[in-house]
Amino acid sequence: MNYRHIFHAGHICDVAKHIVLTMLLAHLRGKEAGFFALDSHAGAGLYDLHDLRALKTGEAKSGIYKLLRAPPLPDAPDYYRILELFNPGWKPAMGADGLGQFRFYPGSPLFIREMLRPQDKLIACEWHADDVIDLKRQFRAMRNAHVHHRDGYEALGAFLPPAEARGLVLIDPPYEEPDEFARLSIVLPVAHGRWPQGMFMIWYPVKERPSVWRFHEALTQSGIPKILCAEFMFEEETRGDRLNGSGLILVNPPWQFDERLRALFPQLHDALQTPDRGARVEWLTKE
Ligand code: SAM
Repeated sequence: MNYRHIFHAGHICDVAKHIVLTMLLAHLRGKEAGFFALDSHAGAGLYDLHDLRALKTGEAKSGIYKLLRAPPLPDAPDYYRILELFNPGWKPAMGADGLGQFRFYPGSPLFIREMLRPQDKLIACEWHADDVIDLKRQFRAMRNAHVHHRDGYEALGAFLPPAEARGLVLIDPPYEEPDEFARLSIVLPVAHGRWPQGMFMIWYPVKERPSVWRFHEALTQSGIPKILCAEFMFEEETRGDRLNGSGLILVNPPWQFDERLRALFPQLHDALQTPDRGARVEWLTKE
């Protein structure tokens, strides 16, 4: 297992994924009853963008740092609020003038942590021992959020269904293994069978298109209703050996969430000034 998220923190894919994540969590907060969140591949939690590993790839430059130069996106207030919590002294309205004050990029478990109310619950799983240590440090004082050093796929069986009726499962593996798509095609129907009313969000890389087609085809055949595919494309798909887009599979998304993403993605393209402006928001299966 070589993947370390510090090399990729704040990349365009993180920005797109975490904005959508906060939008889904904001929906869950719309009802008084507590929700449950499971982050199966949580990462280290907080990333220092001045760390040499982050600087080596420089991926935050075309991602979060580009976004912060642009006027704040109106549909993502929670996303900016949480960035502000981890970067005291920085404000979303500072634009390019604030870049020097912005240094720490939160990962998915911290976005979820900051959306929790006392009645909500989070379980975050991570397999890399060093990342688990970092992550545990950030959850020490929390009573309703717990970190487990555990295989994220195995955790789906262990923690689903939760006691809460509503909630979200984020599955964000590193795609180091060539069979990750095939594995997800098997794992998701089982997890959905255990918790059919839960929301599921799977992130995937759009690189080599045929493997994505095969993944979509398997999901279409899975029998799971209400699967929305949302791809934010930032490079023209002329090559299959690079990351061209950020994909999301959303099961049971909120009503009209497809329309919200169709409105969000052009704004995100404008803000990030991406080389390509492609987007695909389509239902793989309906009710
Ligand atoms: N979800 C994080 C975020 O958005 O900030 C990023 C996660 S990163 C893409 C994938 C993570 O999965 C890495 O931290 C890696 O160590 C971890 N990982 C790899 N195999 C795993 C497994 N079997 N179970 C749990 N975590 C795993």
